[in-house]
Amino acid sequence: MNEIAQTTEQTQVTEPETGTPSTTDSIHFDIFTLFPEMFAGPLSESIIKRARERGLLSVALHNIRDYTTDRHHVCDDTPYGGGGGMVMKPEPIFRAVETALTRPPGWTLPPEDAYVNLPPWDAETPATLPVDTPIILMTTQGRRLTQSVVAELSQFRRLALICGRYEGVDERVRTQLVTDEISIGDYVLSGGELAAMVIIDAVTRLIPGALGYELSAHQDSHAPGLDGLLEGPHYTRPYAFRGEIAPEVLLSGHHANVDRWRREQALLRTLARRPALLERIDLSQKDQAFLRQHGWSPRGE
Ligand code: SAM
Repeated sequence: MNEIAQTTEQTQVTEPETGTPSTTDSIHFDIFTLFPEMFAGPLSESIIKRARERGLLSVALHNIRDYTTDRHHVCDDTPYGGGGGMVMKPEPIFRAVETALTRPPGWTLPPEDAYVNLPPWDAETPATLPVDTPIILMTTQGRRLTQSVVAELSQFRRLALICGRYEGVDERVRTQLVTDEISIGDYVLSGGELAAMVIIDAVTRLIPGALGYELSAHQDSHAPGLDGLLEGPHYTRPYAFRGEIAPEVLLSGHHANVDRWRREQALLRTLARRPALLERIDLSQKDQAFLRQHGWSPRGE
């Protein structure tokens, strides 16, 4: 068995037995990458690991290189027009995505079939792909990943993420295959794998049952439970640490006061760090009055 097929096999070991979602709220990711091994750590720790074990999340790793048929398994080529770097060729990406997405969630190419025994595929005729599965290209130029985009993605039961490398992918992937393009921020990574892991992690937190404390994702920074505010500070034992004590209100047992304190801290944090967010939030009269006491005034006033 060749090295890459072995790698593919190793990454499958950590999949739940069937690799397929088993509850109605579960989400399946198909990841298309040249580096499936990169996912092993993040998929086998903590919340993601538990979500997979509970059948809430499943991830199929598809090695794009497995879908090459030439002797050297080439996935990239020099850019037309010259210039530095390499560009990912379209055929292995199209072949990998069209093969996997026309099969049930959880399907992966058997390692021994890589290169040599690929399912039939027509390079000239586009496959009929499921309309309810977004095919998302990780790219510096996509729409920015925010918590509301994460919430939108969490509504799908199956998502495909394509990880670029080198200078990026041939433009035909963007024009003919993908249905969405996402950037995780205005900086350049070496590949789309870390961006895909960010999406898997953020989406998993929103799958009902994936977090121990069900409300916590709802009450995170940027989430609807906090109206899109940043979350305020947290304290735990010890009460005093290096001369700094936990706020008395948090020890008071008075839930209404604790809630109000938390709301005010969230407002202050957002005012101090991301004041532009306040313009997008529907603030109550009470919130507005509190913010005004701390120097805020709505834009335009
Ligand atoms: N030449 C590309 C450009 O100027 O936009 C950058 C290519 S980057 C070195 C290689 C791959 O990493 C990209 O094709 C994309 O898949 C991924 N990538 C890099 N930065 C990213 C970001 N901020 N968000 C999502 N994907 C990113």
